[in-house]
Amino acid sequence: MGGGQTAIEFLKGVGPERARLLNEELNIKTFQDLLHFFPNRYIDRSQFHSINKLPQNNSEVQIKGKITSIEYVSQKRGKRMIAKFEDETGVMELVWFRGLKWIRDSLKLNQDYVIFGRLNWFGGRANMAHPEMDLEINFQNKLRADFYPIYPSTEKLINKGISQRVIQKLMTHLIEKAGEAFKETLPIYIIDHYKFIAKSKALKEIHYPNSHKDLVNAESRLKFEEFFYMQLQLLLKNLQRKKKIRGFVFSKVGSAFNIFFKEHLPFNLTDAQKRVIKEIRNDLGSGRQMNRLLQGDVGSGKTIVALLIMLIAIDNGFQTSLVAPTEILAKQHYQSIIELLDGSHIKIKLLTGSTKLKDRKIIHHELESGELSILVGTHAVLEEKVKFKNLGLSIIDEQHRFGVAQRAKLWVKNKIPPHILVMTATPIPRTLAMSIYGDLDVSVIDSLPPGRRPVKTSHRNDKKRLGVFAFVKEQIKLGRQIYMVYPLIKESEKLDYKDLMDGYDSISRSFPQPEYQISIVHGQMKPENKSFEMKRFVEGKTQIMVATTVIEVGVNVPNASVMVIESAERFGLSQLHQLRGRVGRGSDQSYCILMSGTKISQEGKTRLETMVKTNDGFEIAEVDLRLRGPGNLMGTQQSGILKLKIADIIKDNKLLKVARDTANQILKKDPNLEKAENQIIKRTLSTINIESNIWNFIS
Ligand code: ADP
Ligand code: MG
Repeated sequence: MGGGQTAIEFLKGVGPERARLLNEELNIKTFQDLLHFFPNRYIDRSQFHSINKLPQNNSEVQIKGKITSIEYVSQKRGKRMIAKFEDETGVMELVWFRGLKWIRDSLKLNQDYVIFGRLNWFGGRANMAHPEMDLEINFQNKLRADFYPIYPSTEKLINKGISQRVIQKLMTHLIEKAGEAFKETLPIYIIDHYKFIAKSKALKEIHYPNSHKDLVNAESRLKFEEFFYMQLQLLLKNLQRKKKIRGFVFSKVGSAFNIFFKEHLPFNLTDAQKRVIKEIRNDLGSGRQMNRLLQGDVGSGKTIVALLIMLIAIDNGFQTSLVAPTEILAKQHYQSIIELLDGSHIKIKLLTGSTKLKDRKIIHHELESGELSILVGTHAVLEEKVKFKNLGLSIIDEQHRFGVAQRAKLWVKNKIPPHILVMTATPIPRTLAMSIYGDLDVSVIDSLPPGRRPVKTSHRNDKKRLGVFAFVKEQIKLGRQIYMVYPLIKESEKLDYKDLMDGYDSISRSFPQPEYQISIVHGQMKPENKSFEMKRFVEGKTQIMVATTVIEVGVNVPNASVMVIESAERFGLSQLHQLRGRVGRGSDQSYCILMSGTKISQEGKTRLETMVKTNDGFEIAEVDLRLRGPGNLMGTQQSGILKLKIADIIKDNKLLKVARDTANQILKKDPNLEKAENQIIKRTLSTINIESNIWNFIS
């Protein structure tokens, strides 16, 4: 055949018009593209079903049996023809709506037929409309395959006559022409080791498998290959990045760190905290720029880790910055660092959108003179006019609130870029992690500080509201504070605000002043009013905080022990988990109450059940990934990994791990792919082009 790059137009049966359609609708331009256009399912005609054991769904099945009677039923528009179809085990109905006369004439009573079609269920009985039918004697002699591929298609293609049959035919032409000419793309040692089938066989059988087993073999070979090259690219990128970018060397630990560590650290670090600090320190001493993601569930103690490594930067004569996504959170970081460093001579300032011009000028000056060691703030810190004398380390909290562009700003400030640590409380599921971490270093704080009691979570429907309020009152009597959170979703913003205000009114009635004091915070308030209300709650002057999800990010009020989430079924899992993380920060038992209506979608139910069942952020993220698919998880939308053709990072996770380990081992032994046996890998890599990945901080 022509090479894989031959334009699809030149395949028998295509031509310019169909070529244009295939290109526009399915992005198929070449022979190669068509060959890698894989079926999304198969019709299995290798098996026969008996009528008493039909699957109780709408699947397509093949059955042997006889037509025993035929009748017509009149209906509003026209007539229906119904046949009784029997095998030894039972009876079902076949139904026709069109071409009745012609079909009736061709049907033979009491003769063996093989029928095929989609099942419908009606009142516990199966029927099949317009089945494909062959007399059994003819069926035996017919040239046929047991599995038919069904390809993804579009309405336009079907309207323009490019049906499944046409695509199947094109594929047959292509495969016949290609013969054994498919190039192998994996080295023989990998094929042997995993007992994979050859590429040529896999490509043929993915389109026309002879048996279920052949199909499975073809799939695993092609899936492995897809994962393998994806992982290889990510790992190679990471190696290159590390080689290329020089970083400051933080060679020593000095008095700033030591004095704090020995005299002011308010608790013992957990093993997980110690481990990640060690990992980070290795980066900082390596002479290469650090680009690390620090994952740790809410409350796992990321702040102290951040502070300790900032102190190391300071000991080495560098300035540092800590950037938070909201003003509230930035202030909170600022205050806790001030408290922790009380008595030291390290200079810290806060810079946010509402910092006064006069103070701003002082900050700018102190930054440029090097007087200021730690700058805490919001994205204001990243602005062009903010210049450091020697910024050595920048820490970004809660990364999913930031765009890549904002992050990139950190880079242009210095010739040698600062080390970067991005902290996130959004756990990235291990399954997804494995496929995207190829080019980013990751540390995980995987345990909570000792003495924490897991938050008790329950689900209550709206009718139980009085009981919930009574419980809240008990908690307030014990001196605790309460969050009551309402959803706020862009599309229904107006209604949501109405819900919030209605909710606030009813809460005010149930919790009357002066016995109870209530704060309210939402996105339409002026920043200063928000801060005022927050402050009253933080200081314990109000017992209840009614809010929209603005408090989702990082507020720390250890005395708050109850989180009531209204219309919880409308929140996503990661949001629910973040919200729940606002309680359970002190030593008291904390509670999360998920309120919902009675009508909830299946997915909504799964989300609430998951929340009730577990406190483990990684487990929750895993369920989230399964429910929504990787495309909807934060930060992954633009990532090339989601454009996989055949492999699925969730369903084929085991294979992904195997592929990743294999790629790793190969690069360990042969980082530049120079060995003879790896030339095939090098060649194949050069023909693949995975889009750049969002996790790639530099591009
Ligand atoms: P997050 O990871 O969500 O940012 P924080 O850094 O805010 O968590 O820590 C949550 C709380 O746990 C804080 O009150 C902090 O002082 C406390 N904490 C952190 N590490 C430890 C530890 N090793 N032992 C006891 N308490 C700790
Ligand atoms: Mg935090």
